[in-house]
Amino acid sequence: MQGLKWGMAALLAGFAAPALAETTVLTNLTLIDGVRAAAQPNSAIVMTNGKITYAGPMSGLKAPKDATTQDMAGKTVMPGIIDSHVHIGLMKDVTQDEKFFTPENVNTDLKQYAAYGVTAVQVLGTDKDFVLELRNQQRKSRPTIARVFSAGQGAVIKGGYGGLVGVTQPIATAEEGRKLVDEQAAKGVDFIKLWVDDERKTIPVKMPFDVTAAIIDQAHKKRLRAVAHVFYLEDAKELIRQGVDGFGHMVRDQPVDKELLDMMKAKGVWMVSATLSREMAYSLAIMPWLNDPFFTRGVTPGTLDALRSMAREKAVVLGPTRFPGLPYEKKVFFDMDRTLVQALENWQAMVNAGVNVGMGTDSGPNGRFPGFNAHEEMQMQVLAGRTPMEAIKSATSDNARWLGDKSIGSIEKGKWADLVVLEKNPLDDIRYTQMISAVFIAGNSVPTVWQTCRDRPLSACTTGASTDVPHMPY
Ligand SMILES: [Zn+2]
Repeated sequence: MQGLKWGMAALLAGFAAPALAETTVLTNLTLIDGVRAAAQPNSAIVMTNGKITYAGPMSGLKAPKDATTQDMAGKTVMPGIIDSHVHIGLMKDVTQDEKFFTPENVNTDLKQYAAYGVTAVQVLGTDKDFVLELRNQQRKSRPTIARVFSAGQGAVIKGGYGGLVGVTQPIATAEEGRKLVDEQAAKGVDFIKLWVDDERKTIPVKMPFDVTAAIIDQAHKKRLRAVAHVFYLEDAKELIRQGVDGFGHMVRDQPVDKELLDMMKAKGVWMVSATLSREMAYSLAIMPWLNDPFFTRGVTPGTLDALRSMAREKAVVLGPTRFPGLPYEKKVFFDMDRTLVQALENWQAMVNAGVNVGMGTDSGPNGRFPGFNAHEEMQMQVLAGRTPMEAIKSATSDNARWLGDKSIGSIEKGKWADLVVLEKNPLDDIRYTQMISAVFIAGNSVPTVWQTCRDRPLSACTTGASTDVPHMPY
């Protein structure tokens, strides 16, 4: 009778009822739980039916008799990485088009995130409706690809910057902005996204403040938080006055000032995703990782061919700067341009001021790579003065706090067992997050990038292993 009752409850919750509890025990590991300030050596993790039932010292471990045990001696385990700013389903090799936004391609992207240890992503405003269905299914089950949080279709002003042609429907007025928010809320989105930019004054239209105010206000009426794409300091300030909840990019036109920092702190506004790796992508003529197996294993041969081509190199080096009218000369070949430096400096200012910061990359569009960029983003945080532990927390427990999801983001009893097992301790060098030995989502082991050779037979990827110490040229 007891069993029958449990079975019914499980069916109603959308789970198949397992005959026996399925338990996996990871032993002798160093634990970075995403919450505590220090790593915990000699630790163990117990995962039962996808959830963490124990995370603590080996001395306190009581493993069930029928459990599967994996000895993790020498390895470090951290929470699954959360990327709070991505776009999915956009690309075929290096071509971006709405027609590639298929369930199959979305699945491929989310699998790629998982392979790089990114076990959850927040998509900011370019989703087709089927992504919300996928998200709902994930929340009723134990996914084996990255978990999705979705802002549905974001708000773009007619003739202005942002969105995805064929998916987002531009608006023209405050009234249309409220209507858009109502429609998105009815679909069950997790956030509302809006774009406030004019691509460095190359686009004559930017979303007016009466429209942004209406969108933010309507989002709050629907109990949703609003995240804005910004570039300019003055826009960021006005959006905060209007009640915006977070920013999808760093302010990059000038140094942030005390007024902005004070407002962000007073109102609890988040720097959701500083997208430092995105700014860097724009400043590189030749990507220094084109022969790095951590990169090449995860991307298609077509992507590699295009990125390695002389034509691309020539176009970037000799071609007109992407942003005409910039008050500086675009520098190339491993140099960082002014926008990137401004983003890094402003990031430091926000961190030093104690602003809430997450970790997000804006990966998905051309030149920014699912999963790979998350590791770069953490490295750049460290480059800009944070400790590896702070970078890891921003990418795990802090991001979960931003998402408002208490079931992920740290390795604690009761949470989903979303874990990344590393060959070396990333507190010694943040680049060790690339030495991925295993990835677990909801307690299930999924293929890592080191077990991947995208769109090729596995035998075609002959270099690179999780045990190789990464070398990056910066
Ligand atoms: Zn974006």
